[in-house]
Amino acid sequence: MSKATIVAPSRQQFGSPVFDELGMERDPDNLYLQTIDAILHAAEILELPHHVQVILAQPKNEIMVHFPVRMDDGHHALFKGYRVQHNNALGPYKGGLRYHPEVGLDDVKTLAALMTMKCSLVRIPFGGGKGGIKCDPRGLSETELRRVTRRFVSAIASQIGPDVDIPAPDVGTNAQVMAWFADTYMNITRDKESVDAIGVVTGKPVEFGGSVGREKATGQGVIDVLAEMMPEVGLEMKSSSCSVLGFGNVGSWAAKLWAERGGKVLAVMDHTGAIYNDQGLDVFAVDEYVRQNRGVAGFEKTPHGADAITEEQFYQTQVDVFIPAALEQMITSEKAELIDCKLIAEAANAPTTPAGERLLLERGIEILPAILCSAGGVTVSYFEWIQNRSQVYWDAERVDEELNRHMVLAARRVQLARHRYNVDLRTAAYIAALDAIGKVYKLRGIFP
Ligand code: GLU
Repeated sequence: MSKATIVAPSRQQFGSPVFDELGMERDPDNLYLQTIDAILHAAEILELPHHVQVILAQPKNEIMVHFPVRMDDGHHALFKGYRVQHNNALGPYKGGLRYHPEVGLDDVKTLAALMTMKCSLVRIPFGGGKGGIKCDPRGLSETELRRVTRRFVSAIASQIGPDVDIPAPDVGTNAQVMAWFADTYMNITRDKESVDAIGVVTGKPVEFGGSVGREKATGQGVIDVLAEMMPEVGLEMKSSSCSVLGFGNVGSWAAKLWAERGGKVLAVMDHTGAIYNDQGLDVFAVDEYVRQNRGVAGFEKTPHGADAITEEQFYQTQVDVFIPAALEQMITSEKAELIDCKLIAEAANAPTTPAGERLLLERGIEILPAILCSAGGVTVSYFEWIQNRSQVYWDAERVDEELNRHMVLAARRVQLARHRYNVDLRTAAYIAALDAIGKVYKLRGIFP
């Protein structure tokens, strides 16, 4: 990854010609349009047939449901849920289910399209989907969360299934939610006796059809990709530093696995605050603290050694690698000005705005794109699905090994596309993903 080959994606006019053809807006601030525009830009470079570009510009299905749930105080609240099925040319739709107060159709569409790209890039036989429920899971009791989950499953049960569309955890959901999801589906599906029904979701608890290694898989995938790509920019993990934005499942595992390999985690920030230690934070202690306190704020008062820092100081912390592992679109151009690193590993989905990205590339900062870096979770989801279907369960070594193989090969595919087409890494990742999708459309043709 020599700096000389970095090409910032600068297009004079926003929006592919496909937008006009489909009557789509040309709103450069819309996340879905930004994402599709970047994908279609890569498709043009790859010379992907026009009809495939048109197909990919819109999701196949956009499912929206409203459903009532009895709350603990006896009143009924109405919830809104989404499942967007973007593309299934490569296999069943696959992608997470998020519970968040800001969930909306455009975000879910964006994330579904990114799942199509992600699954294709790591060469697993799935298409892309994403779902969500507009709610604040932190404000719901466990019984409310369970009822919300069960009602949502019953609302979409006829449109999902282990051969059709397979949800998984995402922001605000976890293995327990997946267990309720699977249990509900298994109780109401037409083929209740089928042992395959449990494969309707992945990310389940290990005791109930889950795979060992699924919980840490996204964080581990980030580290596998970094281990493969860092030497290209002259870095080695064991003598490098990083900072981590977001300390949920992905951020905490990435931080712990980074530290296990000898690297230093200098700073961590989440929605509650930011902490810093120039000798490296004890991220295992931070993890323990966050489990009890729901955030990093206050960790500086423990005896583990850390200072509380401001948001600005967090972004300005000089590190080798910056790992955004929180929500989308957090790295705006203002943040991109502050960030002081050599490499960004996008552990979250779509964490960088196009303006932020342009600035970072101009400053010579490499960005390892999310469809590569964050693909470890869905890859182990695929292993879980295989295990559910075969009823043969793998050990941790096998999961680790197979995950590493998928991540390393995907990273090499991205490097290859980058050198071949002389593009930035994100465009290269889209090209590598679109290549497989284009080949399948060529072989399958368009029905009838
Ligand atoms: N929500 C995760 C993602 O965005 C995992 C999806 C899955 O395992 O299907 O990649």
